[in-house]
Amino acid sequence: MPLKTPDEYIATIRARKPMDIWFRGEKMADPLEHPALRSSVETIKRIYELAHHPKFKELLTTKSHLTGEVCNLYTAPLMSMEDAMQKSRMARSLAEVLGCCTFRCTGSEAISGLYPTTYEIDKAKGTDYHERLKTWLKWVQTEDLTVTAALTDPKGDRRRKAHEQKDPDAYLRVVEKRDDGIVIRGAKVNQTGILLAHEVMIIPTTTVLENGQEYAVACAVPADAPGMKYVLGRWPVDLRVGTDETEMIDVGKKYGDHQAMLIVDDVFVPNERVFMCQDWDFTPVLMEFFTAVHRLTAGSCKSGGVSLLLGATKLAADSINVSGIGHIKQKLAEMGITSETLYALSLAAGVEGFQHESGAWIPNSLLAHSAKFQATRLPFDAVRYAREIMSGIGETAPSAKDLLESEIGPMLDKYLAPAKEGMTTEDRLRIMRLIENMARGSNWTAMALHGGGNTEAARLMALRHINFDKLAKLAEVACGIEKDETKAADLISERLGKIDRGPGMFKK
Ligand SMILES: Cc1cc2nc3c(=O)[nH]c(=O)nc-3n(C[C@H](O)[C@H](O)[C@H](O)COP(=O)(O)OP(=O)(O)OC[C@H]3O[C@@H](n4cnc5c(N)ncnc54)[C@H](O)[C@@H]3O)c2cc1C
Repeated sequence: MPLKTPDEYIATIRARKPMDIWFRGEKMADPLEHPALRSSVETIKRIYELAHHPKFKELLTTKSHLTGEVCNLYTAPLMSMEDAMQKSRMARSLAEVLGCCTFRCTGSEAISGLYPTTYEIDKAKGTDYHERLKTWLKWVQTEDLTVTAALTDPKGDRRRKAHEQKDPDAYLRVVEKRDDGIVIRGAKVNQTGILLAHEVMIIPTTTVLENGQEYAVACAVPADAPGMKYVLGRWPVDLRVGTDETEMIDVGKKYGDHQAMLIVDDVFVPNERVFMCQDWDFTPVLMEFFTAVHRLTAGSCKSGGVSLLLGATKLAADSINVSGIGHIKQKLAEMGITSETLYALSLAAGVEGFQHESGAWIPNSLLAHSAKFQATRLPFDAVRYAREIMSGIGETAPSAKDLLESEIGPMLDKYLAPAKEGMTTEDRLRIMRLIENMARGSNWTAMALHGGGNTEAARLMALRHINFDKLAKLAEVACGIEKDETKAADLISERLGKIDRGPGMFKK
């Protein structure tokens, strides 16, 4: 069965060629051993381990339509409504376990977006991208590889398209075409989990116009390919992170993620790994399909994060005996509603999707963008409640080393003791550190706001997809401007409660 154990995964990461990774002005010798990546390594090991867990494996695995074998859901395109629902549930559950990114979702979403897109390009142009993708995908599934997606270009002047930038490398592009492949150059600025990946899927960050067609490129590159350079960014938050168990209390939790900047310094990509090259006219199709899956996941994974935060906030409230007070109960309930709202939007996006001619299942874009839109907003109220309820000491608490020190420790124990019977001061510190981690220590809130696109990106897509003309017609009938009521019935019967497809929606 092609499902790696955590040890097998580590062995394959160890077997990568030496990589050009930078952190704080120095080259990192071994990402598996560096303390700044310790929680990331724990995260990805846990993801591999859970695929074998008797109670999780059904959620994390599926039968490959390409090989007929069991494979990890992260390596499979969505092929049915059930797959989409499984993806939502998997994202939510794993966020509840980890409280951070799983690293493997962006890659799986690039796969889901490229699967129908390559099919359409081939159909229109007679290319063989779809077969290339399927061949590469079979290998990824059989080897159970971690694929992360790199989209976000530096972008320079936001008011100019890629080909209008002062620096032509502000967006990643093809700089040379050879008989056997292409050479690409550029950068992708914040890639989650990339230092522990096997494969990097490079796709455009936005649509491309004909005169900028060199920017329309999608391909898979081994993470250790010559010319791939990485700079690890913000994580951990401060110097408390270390290697002993006491310091792990200060980090807040065992699992974490990381973001690194990727510099693609004239990297050669052989043809069999190229899935789009200069097909600028299909970049809107890819964006449509990719974001529909990516933003479905953004909703459910933030739902899981809010659930975990809610659990921690309940414990924090218990620790100072305020859980039963009216406004605290209301705030806890609101956090629960936030989690379920995000989950519901994500699930609904999967349910109201459609079957593409390639066999892929495409989630409903408007619902997926609605999930992402709310994921950029609602978790921030949840974070505010968590921080308020854990009280100010949660924001400024001394370190675990002080608490466990023989001279000052007993005094801290006395003054920070929780009000709840059976709970220790160390328990209370752990709870506060978990909230701190999710609220401001880690990149969890940054992920909610930016990861998978920000508020405006989701709003813009919603604007394209909402069928305003149709809704205005319904209102005209309702208020009597339009006297012919059958018009409303006709309009409503077009969807029978289902989501509208606006004029900007990619039609199927
Ligand atoms: C924690 C974290 C994890 C991430 N992980 C990944 C990853 O794994 N892979 C990946 O590819 N990316 C990743 N990203 C990047 C993320 O997708 C981007 O941050 C996001 O899409 C927003 O792009 P940006 O940061 O360039 O901001 P911008 O798009 O530059 O937005 C900045 C501001 O400018 C405004 N703006 C920009 N352009 C315009 C315009 N033309 N008109 C009007 N207003 C405009 C925006 O609305 C916003 O207010 C991650 C980011 C974070 C913070």
